Amino acid sequence: MDRLNWIEKQRQSGNFRQLTPVKRMQDGTLQLAGDTEKAVLHDFSSNDYLALSLHPDLIAASRKYLEMAGAGAGAARLMSGDLTVYHELEKKIAELKGQEAALLFGSGYLANCGIIPALLGRQDVVFCDRLNHASIYDGCRLSRARLVRFHHNDLNHLEDMLKSRRGKGEALIVVESIYSMDGDRSPLKELVSLKEKYGCLLMVDEAHATGLFGPNGGGVIEEEGLSSHVDLAMGTFGKALGSYGAYVAASGSMIDFLVNRARSFIYSTALPPAVVGASLAAIKIIQKQPELRQKLFAKVDLFKSILRQGGLDVLGPSQIVPVLIGESSTAVYLAEKLRRKNIFATAVRPPTVPEGTARLRFSITLHHKNDVLKQTAATLLEILEKG
Ligand SMILES: *Cc1c(COP(=O)(O)O)cnc(C)c1O
Repeated sequence: MDRLNWIEKQRQSGNFRQLTPVKRMQDGTLQLAGDTEKAVLHDFSSNDYLALSLHPDLIAASRKYLEMAGAGAGAARLMSGDLTVYHELEKKIAELKGQEAALLFGSGYLANCGIIPALLGRQDVVFCDRLNHASIYDGCRLSRARLVRFHHNDLNHLEDMLKSRRGKGEALIVVESIYSMDGDRSPLKELVSLKEKYGCLLMVDEAHATGLFGPNGGGVIEEEGLSSHVDLAMGTFGKALGSYGAYVAASGSMIDFLVNRARSFIYSTALPPAVVGASLAAIKIIQKQPELRQKLFAKVDLFKSILRQGGLDVLGPSQIVPVLIGESSTAVYLAEKLRRKNIFATAVRPPTVPEGTARLRFSITLHHKNDVLKQTAATLLEILEKG
């Protein structure tokens, strides 16, 4: 590949991406590292939905675990790195998810790249929602199973595919419970019926739902009472839980199987203990303080209601509020205009989303004060009107 030429093409199409060094303040606002005027940017691109990453309990627990167990695990779990702190967190996760057992991974990306190839091989098939996260697609590819993509949240299309392409091998259906770029929800009950009817495994990625949905913050699976029908409930600690790393919760035998087969688990150093301490503190908070979720969704309602009053068609029942733009270059231009008004919202472009569906994506978090949300919604409406 001619790399310079490729970069030039990306630039021209508005799809070239660049790193933006920032400093994060105690209240969750950002300053661009080189900005001499020190403008305060309101961060609408963060997944720190409950503002837990800066919570004193997480910081204190991290410090405690750091001092108790060291800066690094020193080895993979199957070598000498299997510190007791991982089992403490896995037990909590299994309880939270209503499953027999759980297993930690280095990150959500590593979890998806490890779990799917552990389960499936060449003779098998995976049914994957079109809008699934890149890490799920990468896991599917690594597995070498036949990949069947179905239209986003389209149960009829999925059933057609199941009828014609289920085959005789193992079959896995993979979905997200809350989709990261559209902010919508998958029809889990119906998916459970289909997976039972066609004898498939069902894996649900709760990256954007863990900590935010369900009576204990267990996710959409918990909210819908489906724990015992989902074979693999995966999620990350890096989003609403404000920490890092990931988990999968499943039956005891499934977890035993993954310990023996998931290469991204086997061949990678265990998480730093401090990270585990922070995750434990986060779980305690989400279980004990459901009011944080209510507060967040009140903010989401406020933001969306202003956009709707302004005539904007905002979809989605979640904290992720996508505003569809279309062309990448337009989305980039609008994001830059917002930036100048101290609003940091990213233009999400292909290949993260399908061609022609570039969007501005607003993540609402507890860092946002209500007057900031009102001001931001008004500014967005103004910019969209003027172009
Ligand atoms: C963010 C995300 C991941 C990756 O999780 P990390 O812990 O950030 O690696 C996986 N799946 C989905 C749906 C995500 O949104």
